[in-house]
Amino acid sequence: MSRPPRAVLCAERVSFRYEPATPLLDDWSATFHRGELVAVTGPSGRGKSTVLYLLGLMLRPTAGEVLLDGEPMQSRPDRERAAHRAARFGFVFQDAALDTTRTVLDNVLETALYRGDDRRRSRHRAHELLERFGVALRADARPGQVSGGQAQRIALCRALLGDPRIVLADEPTGNLDPASSEVVFTALREQAARGAAVVVVTHDPALVGRCDRELVL
Ligand code: ADP
Repeated sequence: MSRPPRAVLCAERVSFRYEPATPLLDDWSATFHRGELVAVTGPSGRGKSTVLYLLGLMLRPTAGEVLLDGEPMQSRPDRERAAHRAARFGFVFQDAALDTTRTVLDNVLETALYRGDDRRRSRHRAHELLERFGVALRADARPGQVSGGQAQRIALCRALLGDPRIVLADEPTGNLDPASSEVVFTALREQAARGAAVVVVTHDPALVGRCDRELVL
């Protein structure tokens, strides 16, 4: 009998609250494996984005653990958590979180250069990704000059640049037309096929139906 694959990412009995009186997660557990594309769904305000922040080591649970490759992360210093984020995660946030003072290309390159990746190779790959996602804009274009849908695809380029083992995407097709949505979904599916664990918060039933499983909050 084959052994079950080791989880890339685990939430173990996680509790979380922003305000003392309003617990958002209570004793919540979930496991994510290599090669999986998982949809996280639930009503607005239920805590879906918060779950991505917890899984992505941006917030610390008030109780419980987040394990990365089986290693508990709760008590690790911020510096180490940040290094793990840069090395292993690709994030696509709802508001795209682009720096409007820098060019589109610099935004895409930001995490790779922080990580210490080769600059020339990263630039080459960044151009390839921008081309593929239909956002190969002028090199000096700035995020303030692009549409919401373009910003989302630029954020996806940044997320995929380092070939991340974990992708956390918050409504990655939220602002996109059907054709662009398809391009984004295909890219996430391919990243899973390359062995990544891909977690997607979405309200889109068509997209949920094409994920490997749905995790309802
Ligand atoms: P979802 O993604 O499911 O819509 P969120 O994770 O964004 O839910 O938010 C869950 C709840 O936590 C909401 O009620 C929201 O208002 C609240 N919340 C989100 N961020 C913060 C914060 N930084 N401080 C306090 N409350 C917050």
